[in-house]
Amino acid sequence: MKISELLRQDGLSLSFEVFPHKTNTVFESVKRATEEIAALGPAFVSVTYGAGGGTSQYTLEIAKNIKERYGVPTLAHLTCVSSTRELVRERIGQMKAAGIENVMALRGDLTPELEGADRSQWPYRHAIDLIRELKESGAGFCIGGACYPEVHPESENQREDILHLKEKVDAGCEFLTTQMFFDNNLLYNFLYKIREAGITVPVLPGIMPITKANQVERAIQLSGSFMPQRFKSLVDKFGHSPDAMKQAGIAYATDQIIDLYANGIRTVHVYTMNNPDVAAKILDNLSHILG
Ligand code: FAD
Repeated sequence: MKISELLRQDGLSLSFEVFPHKTNTVFESVKRATEEIAALGPAFVSVTYGAGGGTSQYTLEIAKNIKERYGVPTLAHLTCVSSTRELVRERIGQMKAAGIENVMALRGDLTPELEGADRSQWPYRHAIDLIRELKESGAGFCIGGACYPEVHPESENQREDILHLKEKVDAGCEFLTTQMFFDNNLLYNFLYKIREAGITVPVLPGIMPITKANQVERAIQLSGSFMPQRFKSLVDKFGHSPDAMKQAGIAYATDQIIDLYANGIRTVHVYTMNNPDVAAKILDNLSHILG
């Protein structure tokens, strides 16, 4: 099923994210975790694509397995930065052959080696170049893209970031998923600005349940997200106790989801990573609220 169709449904629904590992030694355990997550019956499962394409075959394998065995729609991520046209076209062909209907079109992060490179010759410099390639493939994919309520770190300012986002949507992006954020007001301000800029596609807020104190630093490093004092206090109070921190982190994420739904959001994307227990607990917390 195409995600664009799913997003028309009423009531609150959640999508979950999983990631394949870079090595095949843990593939089976990761696959099991992704199956447990799919068995919980989310609206869809998104499967990330490793930086530099290191997990490409696993992304496809996991997305295909979940869709076929559990009947859960999947969203296969694909990145393009520094890739050749041949490689990207090969990946698109593989996705088409595997029956993938939904693709998250991403540029990918600039690794330190790529940062100084001469980008003028790259066939794909931005996600929009990949979106155009996906459209030209004629496969009829439903295409998603990333957006940043707190501004992408490479952007000069939010106005410029939103201008490029509009171009991405106009090129064929049918929905957007946000970078994680820990203060819903940032999302509401962002939505106001993008709607004003004429971006009308559905936006799925990305919520990351922080269940371990040491995840905080990594989350900030990866996303540049602002941590509200309310969240910092929670880490200060419970960070030393793994069980308490997990419970508090899940409660915080649940609270964010409830507030989003109360304010008009219908589908929330949860960065469950490969943790079925976290996904199950969030669903349980929302059992009387979910549509
Ligand atoms: P773009 O849309 O290309 O934007 C990147 C920067 O370029 C922004 O500053 C933007 O304003 C600017 N820009 C865009 N278009 C233009 C233009 N035409 N001219 C000039 N400037 C422009 N990474 C992975 O490696 N694998 C994943 O599976 C993955 N999944 C993700 C899922 C989500 C929901 C999010 C939010 C991020 C994900 N990432 C993933 C990380 C992502 O690859 C990085 O954030 C990356 O730095 C930007 O990707 P993008 O697709 O948003 O890029």
